[in-house]
Amino acid sequence: MYNVKACSAASATSPLASTTIPRRDPTEHDVQIEILFCGICHTDLHIARNEWGSVMPTVYPCVPGHEIVGRVTKVGSAVTKFKPGDLAGVGCLVDSDRTCPECKAGLEQYCPNMILTYNSPDKQLGGVTYGGYSGSIVVTERFVLRVPSNLNLAGAAPLLCAGITTYSPMRHWGVTKGKKVGVVGLGGLGHMAVKFAHALGAHVVVFTTSPHKKDDALRLGADEVVVSRNANEMQKHAGSFDFILDAVSADHDINAYINLLRRDGNLTLVGVPAKPLAVGAFALLFARRSLSGSIIGGIPETQEMLDFCGAHKITCDVEVIPIQKVNEAYERMLKSDVKYRFSIDLASLKSA
Ligand code: NAP
Ligand code: ZN
Repeated sequence: MYNVKACSAASATSPLASTTIPRRDPTEHDVQIEILFCGICHTDLHIARNEWGSVMPTVYPCVPGHEIVGRVTKVGSAVTKFKPGDLAGVGCLVDSDRTCPECKAGLEQYCPNMILTYNSPDKQLGGVTYGGYSGSIVVTERFVLRVPSNLNLAGAAPLLCAGITTYSPMRHWGVTKGKKVGVVGLGGLGHMAVKFAHALGAHVVVFTTSPHKKDDALRLGADEVVVSRNANEMQKHAGSFDFILDAVSADHDINAYINLLRRDGNLTLVGVPAKPLAVGAFALLFARRSLSGSIIGGIPETQEMLDFCGAHKITCDVEVIPIQKVNEAYERMLKSDVKYRFSIDLASLKSA
């Protein structure tokens, strides 16, 4: 065991503050990674503040962070894919039972025994797992991703959650050329959804509550932008979408979007508002529309997404911040005031 500097929340109401956490010494299948950048996902805020307490209560102290990019510093004797000096990525998962049908299908994100990167039981050290707002992490090789070397590392880090969470449902629901795709909420997830839908050849419409994001949405790859508070603008798209991805973090009316789907169209929720959303049956029944959810992605698909990003030179638009600004970043994220993901430069931890 060794100690590293980190940044943790001591309770649902405390600001994040600097601390020291233990990491295991790498065993034969482990990869030890010096963390260079870690994105700030809205999930970090939901969990640091125990907003999902009824489903997954937060154990304190909590070290968030599941959009990790770094450099390998040590590998165990049985590790074959990585060597010291390599770039490596870690997303939302650090382990699973590896034997259930989901794991066998490469869908570890649906394993009933998955271990999340933070706030899951830590089988090796006891207590809970600690995430990427820290100087280093040790992860079993199977859950470590290869990061294409042509990508900017600060912008690549959020691919490990915001990237795969939007890429996976688009692949599942067949987003491709000729499809009309909506993206609701132009935040960290939403802006990646726009980039992927555009790269996959779809006609992309962004729905935003922030009129000032219009130019950015077009620059990111949208073909049209709708300010969702304008009912007339919404109505123009009624019954026309093949697929809509909803990446909104707060309470909102999803019926307004279900009504925009064509026959057999699908709306997938990836955003996780703390309170349940009301769904009107009529909106679904009338055109055999479906409403579904999706969580991150499995390890094989996460690697596919990273390789796709390498080939298409796709990264997240990031504001790089030192760890000392993490509390300010949380407040700005709540106001939708980030273009479009914060990425923490962990070199700043040395002076924390
Ligand atoms: P984010 O960067 O804060 O973006 C959320 C966006 O939602 C905002 O930029 C804003 O877009 C829109 N929004 C915020 N408040 C709103 C309101 N009251 N009404 C309507 N729209 C509102 O968050 P994120 O990191 O992308 O995460 C989004 C959600 O996905 C969070 O709930 C997060 O926990 C969840 N998540 C899920 C998964 C998964 O696997 N399913 C993975 C990661 C994150 P506009 O300004 O454009 O309106
Ligand atoms: Zn996330």
